[in-house]
Amino acid sequence: MRKAAAAAVAAAAAVGVALLVRRQLREAKRWGRADAVLRELEERCAAPRARLRQVADAMAVEMHAGLASEGGSKLKMIISYVDALPSGEEKGVFYALDLGGTNFRVLRVQLGGKEGRVIKQEHDEISIPPHLMTGGSNELFDFIASSLAKFVASEGEDFHLAEGRQRELGFTFSFPVKQTSIASGTLINWTKGFSIDETVGEDVVTELTKALERQGLDMKVTALINDTIGTLAGGRYDDNDVIAAVILGTGTNAAYVERANAIPKWHDLLPKSGDMVINMEWGNFRSSHLPLTEFDQALDAESLNPGEQVYEKLISGMYLGEIVRRVLLKMAEEASLFGDEVPPKLKIPFIIRTPYMSMMHCDRSPDLRTVGAKLKDILGVQSTSLKTRRLVVDVCDIVAKRAACLAAAGIHGILKKLGRDVPNTDKQRTVIAVDGGLYEHYTIFAECVESTLRDMLGEEVSSTIVIKLAKDGSGIGAALLAAAHSQYREAEEL
Ligand code: ADP
Ligand code: MG
Repeated sequence: MRKAAAAAVAAAAAVGVALLVRRQLREAKRWGRADAVLRELEERCAAPRARLRQVADAMAVEMHAGLASEGGSKLKMIISYVDALPSGEEKGVFYALDLGGTNFRVLRVQLGGKEGRVIKQEHDEISIPPHLMTGGSNELFDFIASSLAKFVASEGEDFHLAEGRQRELGFTFSFPVKQTSIASGTLINWTKGFSIDETVGEDVVTELTKALERQGLDMKVTALINDTIGTLAGGRYDDNDVIAAVILGTGTNAAYVERANAIPKWHDLLPKSGDMVINMEWGNFRSSHLPLTEFDQALDAESLNPGEQVYEKLISGMYLGEIVRRVLLKMAEEASLFGDEVPPKLKIPFIIRTPYMSMMHCDRSPDLRTVGAKLKDILGVQSTSLKTRRLVVDVCDIVAKRAACLAAAGIHGILKKLGRDVPNTDKQRTVIAVDGGLYEHYTIFAECVESTLRDMLGEEVSSTIVIKLAKDGSGIGAALLAAAHSQYREAEEL
């Protein structure tokens, strides 16, 4: 009797062991699959130095092509008509208006020349009522103009408009514009949720000027720019060695100072000497050297603008979290990363926003507590193993570092175009002003941009190159450009 019981226990134990072994085998296979997805991602995203050099070379080549002829490259290399950046001598009160998202900002600044610099600055942020974003153009421009009129009316005594002068405004309008002079340009199309048909093809400065007149506000729109050019202007005012600006935020773009005689497509426009700021629209860059994965291809194909903004889709804040989501979804489907069922929320596009990604990526706790908490918040996954959390961090690391490396390669391309990528005997400094939430807040990303650029340039050259955070420089930059292009400029210089 006792023997039979012992045999039964032994048999049950054997079954238990077999089940355990099977489960362990299944687990091992699962992790093996997840690791394989990760390894493949790592391979495809790899951006070794040689590859980054090819990307930088391609950027410089495309810059040349875009400057040579209209439509000569995916890089539009738009002539901004900004032929004077702030020198620091600017004096007087100037205004800026920044429209490019759900909020717009107004700003005034009292400039005191070389000695006084920025004497006083004030700004206001106003959110645009949603119905105006899809209504008529007069309604939108009237709302903006009346907000500006209120802002002007609230002006204190610290701001002095010189006797007999008209107020002047720099207008930062971050939508696609075909620029026709420093203070005119026609809207190509609205983006970012705006949709006002009748404005397309119209001169935006004329539209705004008419609205200002309707409000009884006597103000001249002196400069029409975008946020990247504003950042360049603000950066230059702070540091005379700034030659380019890069935006790394929701989207990405770059602008830099070119010699006017190095712009062949500028054949019928004068003057051909001096400097000209070029708005690269570099988000649209593409090259066979860019390390693309199946995830990038799917993201692009399902996007609102397939085939466009390929570089932007690899490096900007709008997309990084979404790339991570796509990788994790594959791991969930093929390797049950989050258990037997794929979390339904993981199937929702753009649910992993880049700030969440950076919080997970930067988690320094030994048990990756933040990663666990975020996965719960975002995806509703109740509990995760440490191994799963580590894999999530690895995915973030690969995606963020590829982005940072490619951004650095782009900057290297600009330096190359300007001949600043080689040692210069007089140790001339070169400064790049960078703005945008991605660069400002995603520490690992920002550090990687800098270290990659240093690595690409070598020690001697990097000692002369500075990347400088130019936080919110574009607001004041627009006012500074209004000053630098003021209607009273020549009178003053005489
Ligand atoms: P915009 O580019 O829309 O003008 P910002 O320059 O402020 O605005 O950048 C905002 C973008 O920066 C967000 O869309 C997001 O992608 C990114 N971002 C903001 N905060 C963080 C963060 N903590 N970590 C990573 N990315 C961030
Ligand atoms: Mg911005």
